[in-house]
Amino acid sequence: MPNKNAARRFINNATRFLMNFLFPASCPLCGTRVSVHGELCAECWTEFNWICNPKCAKCGYPFPANLDLGPRPLCPRCAAGECGLDLIRSACVYDDVSRAAMLPFKHAGRIKYSLFMSRAMIWAMRDVTISPDVVLPVPLAYRRLFHRGYNQAVLLARPIARAFGVPLDLSSVHRAYRPDMGHKNAAQRAENIHGVFTVKNPDKIRGRRILLVDDVMTTGATFSELRRVLMAAGAVAVYGVVFCRTVRAI
Ligand SMILES: [Zn+2]
Ligand SMILES: [Zn+2]
Repeated sequence: MPNKNAARRFINNATRFLMNFLFPASCPLCGTRVSVHGELCAECWTEFNWICNPKCAKCGYPFPANLDLGPRPLCPRCAAGECGLDLIRSACVYDDVSRAAMLPFKHAGRIKYSLFMSRAMIWAMRDVTISPDVVLPVPLAYRRLFHRGYNQAVLLARPIARAFGVPLDLSSVHRAYRPDMGHKNAAQRAENIHGVFTVKNPDKIRGRRILLVDDVMTTGATFSELRRVLMAAGAVAVYGVVFCRTVRAI
């Protein structure tokens, strides 16, 4: 029905024009005018260390620009079968710039950052062929949710689930409270996270391909532990996407 579509398009455009007139879109980080709500301005965008090719085909670890390892390059860890998940993607590197955006997003209520962050995460998955059945934001312990008021991973996961056209799962996995992991090393983090997740609803996990969403990946211990309990509950594949990740020499 072309007339109906044209009318809908006109209404959408007019609404967008009016909204932009009443509430002009501004960069969430610096306040500069931008054309799309939630989008970063060009200057702030270029500050981030976005992960592009070449990178590990499995875990998304960025490689030096001149490294040519063929059409499906793997980092040494993935080549040795040590990847924590079936596939991992990250929009950018965890550095001073992403940390400066992440801290207020996570701890000071800057939930509007979720728009540009989730868009960047969807962009980071543009070259993957996975088809998850469900999107599962990494759960927060109830005590943390009580103090923070929101789970930042849920805010990031909503637009991602919409982009894949699959449901969000907010209830199948429970996370027990553990004191802060602080600056512990990889082995201590893995030990600290062991056993914190419990699958409450195995019927919703069994036979599913699950896309985990989190804000940051440091050692990957959280993803590995979640994968362990999800696979034990019958999941067939577990993928992960984060806004930023630490990149250490491997
Ligand atoms: Zn800006
Ligand atoms: Zn890798």
